[in-house]
Amino acid sequence: MYIYKVGVVGAGTMGAQIAEVVSYAGLPVVLADIQETLARRGVESVRAIYQARVAKGKMTPEQLEEKMLLVTASPSLDGLADADLLIEAVSEELTLKQRVFQALDQICSRSAILASNTSALSISAIGAATKRPGKVIGLHFFNPAYAMPLVEVIPGLATDPQTVDDVVGFAESLRKQPVIVKECAGFLVNRLLSPYLNEAVWCLQDGEVSIKEIDQDMVSFGMPVGPFALLDTVGVDIALDVARILHRSYGPRMAPAPLLEALVKAGRIGIKAGHGFYDYVSAGEGGRDQGLDDLMQQVRHVTGRQRMEWRRSRPLLAMVNEAVIALQEGVASARDIDLAMVTGTGFPHEKGGPLHLADQLGIDHVLQELEELRQSLGLRFWPAPMLRRMADAGFAGHMAGRGFFSY
Ligand code: NAD
Repeated sequence: MYIYKVGVVGAGTMGAQIAEVVSYAGLPVVLADIQETLARRGVESVRAIYQARVAKGKMTPEQLEEKMLLVTASPSLDGLADADLLIEAVSEELTLKQRVFQALDQICSRSAILASNTSALSISAIGAATKRPGKVIGLHFFNPAYAMPLVEVIPGLATDPQTVDDVVGFAESLRKQPVIVKECAGFLVNRLLSPYLNEAVWCLQDGEVSIKEIDQDMVSFGMPVGPFALLDTVGVDIALDVARILHRSYGPRMAPAPLLEALVKAGRIGIKAGHGFYDYVSAGEGGRDQGLDDLMQQVRHVTGRQRMEWRRSRPLLAMVNEAVIALQEGVASARDIDLAMVTGTGFPHEKGGPLHLADQLGIDHVLQELEELRQSLGLRFWPAPMLRRMADAGFAGHMAGRGFFSY
């Protein structure tokens, strides 16, 4: 099915970014929100994204105006009736999304596809609120959508294969990198990123290591930013919400680190609050962050402490192990898992992704290190059964010529 026109519902951060990406690809896009003023504000946000491009000399003011002709605001959802694809980007609340989908189901043509940009909610549950669950799908853009190539495509239990094909084709027409992900909590990228970030927090809580040292070491591994800088940027509260959703679904291995919870309780939720893991108010004054030190002391007093020297393999293997579990579950192929982590999180391109990393390290080595971590730190490091099967069968990784990939 060819998509001639797109409707975006919810003209906030993501809605505006998605509208920019769609118009940049040359398709008309209509934005709607609860009020027309908010939809118009969304159109202005699209203009601001283009304006930044003009300022960098990447586009002319004339080109900007040409693109903006494709972007309009609608006073209500009725203005989206003739769109072929609707992308919902309203606040992350299931009942709200279900209400929006019910309304779209009545307004839009029978052939229209209804997609949700949800980060974590069930596509199947959203689809079940409509009379066309076969045409409901997850289409998860990453922030900022104009810069991040990855788009997760998530079919729900009732989504038709044709809808998947249509949406993959659409994402490619936007010059995005679509990856089809079997529906599961956190989908693919957040499911793998969250245990990595959570383990970095455990390391801080346990070790004689500073946030700066951990961040610097992960950047020297090749990550674009360290885990604590990332947590502060995303919002420590948002990261905790995701960790809790994953914990509810996957159980003890995803239990949020107590220090993460303590920071949110103390209002240290990241850059937007002036302090999170880092202090942005008195930054530059040097010295220790007494507030963070006190919080760590309190947490250690309650939970105890597993003194262990910092090693970067701890957060990395938490991610690798989850990647293997996701592979076992058929959430995505090995190639797509690695591709998604490189394009969705900035995992170093030259290392290929978490499964390529496991192959490089050697499957026996990964297994042995996970076993050691399990013995000293607990069940969250229980090795994915597939690793043992691979080790037993000689799929030992790069050196053996075969592992998750063949060489
Ligand atoms: P936001 O708060 O910036 O924008 C949400 C918009 O939805 C607001 O403008 C609000 O007025 C509008 N809205 C609320 N109820 C509505 C309704 N009934 N009809 C029409 N519009 C309505 O939120 P956001 O950060 O853009 O997130 C939107 C969605 O995208 C969420 O599901 C979120 O999980 C997901 N997401 C967010 C990010 C991110 O980094 N912000 C990244 C990926 C996905």
